[in-house]
Amino acid sequence: MNADPLELQKFAELAHRWWDPTSEFRPLHEINPLRLEWINARAPLAGKQVIDIGCGGGILSESMARKGATVTGIDLGEKALKVADLHSLESGVPVRYKLIAAEEMAAQEPGQYDVVTCMEMLEHVPDPAAIVRACAALVKPGGQVFFSTLNRNPKAYLFAVIGAEYLLRMLPKGTHDYEKFITPAELSQFIRSAGLELAGFKGMGYNPLTKIYSLNDDTSVNYLVAARRPL
Ligand code: SAH
Repeated sequence: MNADPLELQKFAELAHRWWDPTSEFRPLHEINPLRLEWINARAPLAGKQVIDIGCGGGILSESMARKGATVTGIDLGEKALKVADLHSLESGVPVRYKLIAAEEMAAQEPGQYDVVTCMEMLEHVPDPAAIVRACAALVKPGGQVFFSTLNRNPKAYLFAVIGAEYLLRMLPKGTHDYEKFITPAELSQFIRSAGLELAGFKGMGYNPLTKIYSLNDDTSVNYLVAARRPL
């Protein structure tokens, strides 16, 4: 199985706080509108079939459903999925959540989705290239796939690990393992090897003084990638 039990454990321990915007998940809440609008601008979500890989408590999944997409969210974290289901019931925004590996889902529902999203997840798995291949298998010809992850270089170590976990304490210590960060060149390689075409990169920055996130063209720390399956 392409999953690290310790990674799943970390998220399980925090899962009950997933929808608390002041919790450890605050960064995900704060970046969500930015990534949602970026995705929606490239792939208008209304009426689309969408699958969110590594959906966790459903922050992105539910927001895409609110845009009018029919959303499936999958993860291997049982607790997070329970929280996600409960939140969807409470908010009245339907999302289909499933406890299943991306590779297994790709075998069951190949080519069924207009849009595949896989955000802040690749840096937590042993074999990210296999997840990218699963995403490529899930998307329809002509459909779009969106990833986000952390770059691997000294600046990313300083900002994403030392800064976020130790200095600003935005994330619990040990949230991110520097060795698992992925450079844009590596992710591009995974994307092309999976038969997808690169469609664009975007950087995401955080200003610790204003506490505001923004999208920009600096992919040196947090970044997003858009890809497309050829017709
Ligand atoms: N994508 C969500 C959650 C990111 S947190 C968001 O951006 O809002 C990372 C998530 O990846 C957690 O929910 C964790 O359970 C999940 N995860 C980690 N390893 C996984 C694996 N091998 N397969 C599926 N999900 C995994």
